[in-house]
Amino acid sequence: MTTTSRIEWTEQTWNPTVGCTKVSPGCKNCYAEVMSSRLRAMGTPGYEHGFELRLLEQRLQDPLLRKKPTVYFVNSMSDLFHDDIPDAYIEKVFDVIERTPHHTYQILTKRAKRMARFFAKRPVPKNAWMGVSVEDKRYGVPRIDFLRKVPASIRFLSVEPLLEDVGALDLAEIHWVIVGGESGPKARPMQQSWVDAIRIQCEEQKVAFFFKQWGGWGADGVKRAKKHNGRELHGRTWDELPAQTVQF
Ligand code: SF4
Repeated sequence: MTTTSRIEWTEQTWNPTVGCTKVSPGCKNCYAEVMSSRLRAMGTPGYEHGFELRLLEQRLQDPLLRKKPTVYFVNSMSDLFHDDIPDAYIEKVFDVIERTPHHTYQILTKRAKRMARFFAKRPVPKNAWMGVSVEDKRYGVPRIDFLRKVPASIRFLSVEPLLEDVGALDLAEIHWVIVGGESGPKARPMQQSWVDAIRIQCEEQKVAFFFKQWGGWGADGVKRAKKHNGRELHGRTWDELPAQTVQF
């Protein structure tokens, strides 16, 4: 089963695994955890165990059945490089990716070290964009160095939820940076100066910058519904995509 995505920078989600465990402050109000318990309560197949990690082999074939070129966000409800997912299973996922060159896959992890280890001796399919989450200085920023080791055609950062000023970033060999604030009732605030600091570094280092959303707190520091805070920064949207790109 793949699902049309409401994420601003992708088209469909594909979850060949579901469930996860928390590793860093960005996980605190994990959307996948909340959704998993909702889906479990609704009796949705695949979520019988809520947020416990599960490999869903029956979903591996889904992209092979779809002829229309599609941008997939892989594992919106999990983390593909979680310790409990065997290498052999991750290989199956990348085998499907390789066999469907008409699709583009965006794979985001907080387990950057394992991702780098996994690809130390394996090529990355050309249609797989590999990314890491960078929510803060302590846990997020060090993931960038691991990502740089991954021989992907597109490497990207998901700076969401941005929890503090992440300081100076080395964006060498990084192609795309997405920034966003946290949503949901427990959202933590994001300051415009933190976003601007990243945007300016993207400009200086010639990296595509995408501003996804303010989330639960507006540019004015007021908490309100996400839809009222919108996506504008300095009166405009920022929707840059990496150079070797696809049409959304
Ligand atoms: S790594 Fe992602 S899916 Fe896993 S707990 Fe953290 S935020 Fe949730």
